[in-house]
Amino acid sequence: MKRSLEKGEMVLKKVSQRALMWFKSDLRVTDNPALRNASLYGEVIALYIISPQEWKSHDVAPIKVDFILRNLKKLRESLNELNIPLVVKQINHVKETPNLILNHCKEWNINAVFINKEYEVDESKRDLKVQKTLEENGFLFDITHDQCVVPPGRVLTKDGKPYSVFTPFKKAWIKILLAENSLIQVIPLPEPNIDQSLIIHQEKNEIPEKVEGFDISKKYDADYVRGLWAAGKEAAHKKLEQFSKFKILDYKKNRDAPALDGTSVISPFLAIGALGIRECLNEALIANKGLLDSGNEGAVTWISELCWREFYRHVLFHYPRVCMYQPFKLETKNIKWRDDPEGFEKWCKGETGYPIVDAGMRQLNKTGWMHNRSRMIAAMFLTKDLLIDWRKGEKYFMENLIDGDFASNNGGWQWSASTGTDSQPYFRVFNPLLQSQKNDPDGVFIKKWVPELKGLNKKQIHCPKDCLGASEFKKLNYPLPLVDHDMARKRAIDAFKNLKTDE
Ligand code: FAD
Repeated sequence: MKRSLEKGEMVLKKVSQRALMWFKSDLRVTDNPALRNASLYGEVIALYIISPQEWKSHDVAPIKVDFILRNLKKLRESLNELNIPLVVKQINHVKETPNLILNHCKEWNINAVFINKEYEVDESKRDLKVQKTLEENGFLFDITHDQCVVPPGRVLTKDGKPYSVFTPFKKAWIKILLAENSLIQVIPLPEPNIDQSLIIHQEKNEIPEKVEGFDISKKYDADYVRGLWAAGKEAAHKKLEQFSKFKILDYKKNRDAPALDGTSVISPFLAIGALGIRECLNEALIANKGLLDSGNEGAVTWISELCWREFYRHVLFHYPRVCMYQPFKLETKNIKWRDDPEGFEKWCKGETGYPIVDAGMRQLNKTGWMHNRSRMIAAMFLTKDLLIDWRKGEKYFMENLIDGDFASNNGGWQWSASTGTDSQPYFRVFNPLLQSQKNDPDGVFIKKWVPELKGLNKKQIHCPKDCLGASEFKKLNYPLPLVDHDMARKRAIDAFKNLKTDE
């Protein structure tokens, strides 16, 4: 990978040179390596390309698109403070991307284009085509690693192989960070353009309020969800700082209780790059007195979660098959998943008759976000209790999550389905009743999202069908359990038994 400027390298900005910063999933001015490099190279014009066909083919949720559009407006404000214009263009098909960029390079007298790398297969192919077109036409093209603290390809075993299990990966990741402190440093702000003259390029260039095919008002109360998910740099940093000031030290204790506001909820910002990963890690380090893997257990656990995010990106980088609907564990591609459209629909709607599963799914459907514990319970229920293909759940999550992120979503689904990187064998099957009793003991989370159960006591709430008489249960107007867990567990284990890879 080419990298024109090293972090912190002092270069005299040349006003005679112009750079194009092509924003993608890095919608921020802070901690942005490509933007910083562009600003050191010359005067900067920024571009963002709205590509609905690409969004559709990657199942991007309307709620995420709405969040992107709102963040673009805030990004434009931040860039304009640095005299950098942001131009937003829309294309009909991804294949128009190289020429759109080429034409703008010519029109705006650009010399070099700067991007942060995206690791997914389609995105990498698109960027290669852009690179080829630009280089053939004499423009420089500069790709920088941004999304991970330690770039994919650098965390390897002694034999030079990628890790396929999280814990040893984390050990190696920490070792690299302890040895190379520079990786952790937040990238300095971009150098401003000398004057406002380039802002003229963004005049009459409106950032749309909505994009056809991604209308949030079809599913949500738009004011309600926009109120939940404030956009922009200030909102992102406020969330991160509030968490690191008031919650991080108790994170280990509170992180599994979906009723508690015990996690950071920064994932929507990370998914679109409105927060930089080094900014997040540094907040944790401040809270933990500079320690990475010792000190306060809450902070250490949170750092470990950031590492999970990196791990799944490294997996995708080394095993691109996961981008192509393939399981990480090849032998699991022969599993006979059940065809059960009715069960799937009930799962989507949060009508499985298992309150803890339904609460999570309804939280997702109402807000576009779901607590991590609920994601695991819901995913495990779909893939093990209903034995429905994880790819169906993965798609539904992407279509509905405001923080939809291919690597984390794919990693989480494959982990839950035992087709992925889980070091535990396939007979890890969550019992939804025990998960409910353990993680939502008083039923506070269930009552919030499944209001028809709010009259039940803390014993009944986890299993209304078994704890109430038939007539009392009927009055609740709550569905019967879709499946018997003990039978389903056995069925799932049988489906995994004796699978052999055919590679
Ligand atoms: P915190 O607990 O505060 O953690 C901080 C950050 O660390 C998160 O914002 C996230 O970037 C990262 N992180 C935390 N846990 C994980 C994890 N298990 N895997 C990867 N990164 C993690 N996360 C997404 O960002 N997008 C997704 O599309 C997504 N889909 C998932 C699907 C399934 C089936 C599962 C089990 C998990 C999924 N996750 C996904 C991971 C995790 O659930 C969310 O990152 C987390 O709930 C976001 O909440 P938070 O910001 O409060 O996280």
